[in-house]
Amino acid sequence: MEASAPSGGMVTSYTYVDTPNPNLVCCICRTPFLDPCTTRTCCHTFCYECIARAIAISRQCPIDRCPLSLLDLGPADPLIRNLVDEMVVECPQRPAGCTYTCQRLLLPAHISDSCEYVEVACSHKGCGKQVLRRDFTRHRHNDESKDEEPAASGHGLEANHEQEATGSTSPSSTSNSVQLEDPLRVENALLKHRISALEGVVNILRHEMQAVKHALGPWYSEDDAGFNSVAPGSGISRD
Ligand SMILES: [Zn+2]
Ligand SMILES: [Zn+2]
Ligand SMILES: [Zn+2]
Ligand SMILES: [Zn+2]
Repeated sequence: MEASAPSGGMVTSYTYVDTPNPNLVCCICRTPFLDPCTTRTCCHTFCYECIARAIAISRQCPIDRCPLSLLDLGPADPLIRNLVDEMVVECPQRPAGCTYTCQRLLLPAHISDSCEYVEVACSHKGCGKQVLRRDFTRHRHNDESKDEEPAASGHGLEANHEQEATGSTSPSSTSNSVQLEDPLRVENALLKHRISALEGVVNILRHEMQAVKHALGPWYSEDDAGFNSVAPGSGISRD
């Protein structure tokens, strides 16, 4: 098999470490939801790609045949999105030797930044060779002497900078440098994800709150909303 660096860290299929919860599995592709969305009409959840393709063929829900169009699709509950994004998956380079596992949402970053078993293009002028990231530190060119490696002496560093400057004609010259997994960056990605999920939950709660206010109608007013106001004579007590 041939290892290749996926563009933009895109992953289209995952290998899950644990057996997925059946409630999180799309009935069309039989794998845990990718970009899950829920129908507003019948509340069924699918991968967006799966249900969009199904609607293009037949405009009905594959589960209950309820009439369906793309306009009836909304993002799934953030809790569902969280549960599938946090499922643990294997690195797709496992056949090549990478035993890394991580939460699904972190896999693209592993592949694009730190997987040692992904091939990256050498940015050295006139080289362009595909080299496994783990072999990159040993990858050398004829016009490259050992003095040009990052050294403790100021002179060595100067030579190194000059080389970087000449190599920077290619826009991706710095992105291929060997990078270690930065724990802060991983934590940052996780936190961003959690915040967006929480924002979704807050929106749902806000809508529910409005629905409750609406249902209460004349019984609800901002001033009387406190618990203290619920007292005999307020009209809420029953006989
Ligand atoms: Zn699907
Ligand atoms: Zn349905
Ligand atoms: Zn890997
Ligand atoms: Zn090279």
